Amino acid sequence: MIPVVALVGRPNVGKSTLFNRLTKTRDALVADFPGLTRDRKYGHAHYAEQSFIVIDTGGIDGTETGVETHMADQSLLAIEEADVVLFMVDARSGLMPADHLITQHLRERKKPTFVVVNKTDGLDPDVAMSDFYSLGLGDIYPIAAAHGRGVIRLLEDALLPF
Ligand code: GDP
Ligand code: MG
Repeated sequence: MIPVVALVGRPNVGKSTLFNRLTKTRDALVADFPGLTRDRKYGHAHYAEQSFIVIDTGGIDGTETGVETHMADQSLLAIEEADVVLFMVDARSGLMPADHLITQHLRERKKPTFVVVNKTDGLDPDVAMSDFYSLGLGDIYPIAAAHGRGVIRLLEDALLPF
């Protein structure tokens, strides 16, 4: 079985950066402004012997109107398709209201979820993580998608059942 791993979270938390790292492409658009990835984007990746499919999404920020509604819908579809969800949050911004909204969706869907705290470069990982335990989604993985910190440990655990 080739598992499907969805990258879900608010715009600008680093989903496309992680997608590019996992798939070793620069296909997903990474930018300093939020909301660039409007559709779901699929890529092939592998870790050790395990192949998997990654879905990049545009993000959910809870205030969607117009084209952003479409982005949020795409994120929800990606959650449906996924065997595992990597729920990415941003260590720099801390916990945001939309993080709670996404948590609610993930709970309703009962998907295996890993909370991934990105942008921990230059931060104490324990401090960076502390904000996010209150989401109540279980284990939290500090990473820096831009530099690769923490990614192996995350994949080892996320892909373990497959
Ligand atoms: P997306 O909207 O969730 O896909 O986020 P992007 O991947 O487009 O990244 C948004 C911004 O965060 C870009 O400016 C990235 O360079 C930056 N970013 C992504 N990962 C990291 C990281 O690990 N550390 C830092 N400091 N910045 C990051
Ligand atoms: Mg993106």
